[in-house]
Amino acid sequence: MNNAKQFYINGQWVDPIDGTDLDVINPSTEEVVDTISLGGTADSEAAIAAAKTAFKTWAWSTKKERLDLMRSILDIYNKRADEMGETISKEMGAPVDMSKTSQSGTGSYHIQGFIDTLEEFEFERPLREDAPRDKILYEPIGVCGLITPWNWPMNQIALKVMPALATGCTMILKPSELSPLSGMLFADILHEAGVPKGVFNLVNGDGPGVGTTLSGHKDVDMVSFTGSTRAGRLITKNAAETVKRVSLELGGKGANIVFADAPEKAVQQGVMRCFNNTGQSCNAPTRMLVERSRYDEAVEQAKAQAEKTAVDLASREGRHIGPLVSQMQYDKVQALIEAGIKEDKATLVAGGLGRPDGMNRGYFVRPTIFADCHNDMKIMREEIFGPVLAMMPFDTEEEAIEIANDTDYGLTNYIQTEDGEKANRVARRMRTGMVDMNGMGRSARSPFGGYKQSGNGREGGVWGMDEFLEVKAVGGWFPDAPNG
Ligand code: NAD
Repeated sequence: MNNAKQFYINGQWVDPIDGTDLDVINPSTEEVVDTISLGGTADSEAAIAAAKTAFKTWAWSTKKERLDLMRSILDIYNKRADEMGETISKEMGAPVDMSKTSQSGTGSYHIQGFIDTLEEFEFERPLREDAPRDKILYEPIGVCGLITPWNWPMNQIALKVMPALATGCTMILKPSELSPLSGMLFADILHEAGVPKGVFNLVNGDGPGVGTTLSGHKDVDMVSFTGSTRAGRLITKNAAETVKRVSLELGGKGANIVFADAPEKAVQQGVMRCFNNTGQSCNAPTRMLVERSRYDEAVEQAKAQAEKTAVDLASREGRHIGPLVSQMQYDKVQALIEAGIKEDKATLVAGGLGRPDGMNRGYFVRPTIFADCHNDMKIMREEIFGPVLAMMPFDTEEEAIEIANDTDYGLTNYIQTEDGEKANRVARRMRTGMVDMNGMGRSARSPFGGYKQSGNGREGGVWGMDEFLEVKAVGGWFPDAPNG
């Protein structure tokens, strides 16, 4: 990368054709980290044209060529993983230690995941044993527009770029304009690994600009989007004219059901999980539903955990949470905390409005807990995207299921109980793409995605590969012909 205003198109860093400047702001200090360019239509079209040309050859690359390339990407990525962590920390405010482990680590985790998936993936399969002349071919969908958010930048980029590469697609990445520098560093890594020219392109820009060109363009065959439900709707509408595939990973409002027989640490861990990444995770457990016999104790535990959650500069080493990403997110979270206080139904037990004591700049928020919430409150229905937990009691299993599912979202719900039969029964009833029980998490290569307004796609593993593939059914295939 020569300078941050350039774009990576057709195998090289190039100056913008019709870009406008945008400062990248360090959310801890409000100082300028670097200045990027927001591309215009001509920049997007240059990248789309490069990807379209490259597809003619890359679509016919062998699985071995792609695996070799992905392995060398992983090697180079691992060597530059700390640099990636530091970059993410500066641009979006994740504390540096956390950024070098969790944030940056998601990159190598998903690159490795897609290497493993590709090794086992069959691109040609018989329809059935007894129908040898029916062949099913899995083929790359074509030129892909990849639009990503700022909250887990490398996680989202790797979850899209790697399966696109693995399946033989070509692509244009538009990272979030709030966290573009990690995407640019990743472009450098891909370049060093020898990605053929035009296969991967990066154009910085905003939603109305580059985002809209990518989703509406006739030469873009598919858009893979992660971000807000609001933008997901706009992209879907804009893409309709060209009937392209649109894969959406959107917001969430996760419920964490804590039964009376939950493990001792369940509440404390639930609060930590909600506050992780300063609450800026789509799958954060932001609504804690607690069985009434354990409710008062749970509120005390949550309050204690919030009060001992340290808030500090992203550049400072150690375990704490950092700022929110931007002034806009700060204002939005403050408005939602204010709504929680004003609605006068819930009790504010920790945190509240304003910055933590002693902090007078940076987008820092006080770790906040509301107790005695009702599911019709704004803070129970809207994705807050800050360190704010809303708690409410329940009396029966049926009531807990009802409340958990009573939301427009359907990404991840959480269940805490030692009773295996109850846990499995409740997991089946969750209207969410993912269920996490007793903090176990899900294994590598398991599908990530949501029901309802949390999206319509799945990322990771074979499900993540399928998003980038067309399915061709051939009748009359010659099973014994050379190359057949
Ligand atoms: P956002 O929707 O504002 O922006 C996401 C990306 O979309 C950015 O690159 C942005 O420039 C672009 N964009 C915005 N409007 C667009 C438009 N009209 N056309 C094309 N592109 C457009 O979201 P954000 O604030 O960056 O990220 C936070 C959101 O992302 C939260 O809602 C969070 O839940 C969601 N998210 C979901 C997942 C998931 O896997 N489900 C993962 C991470 C984040």
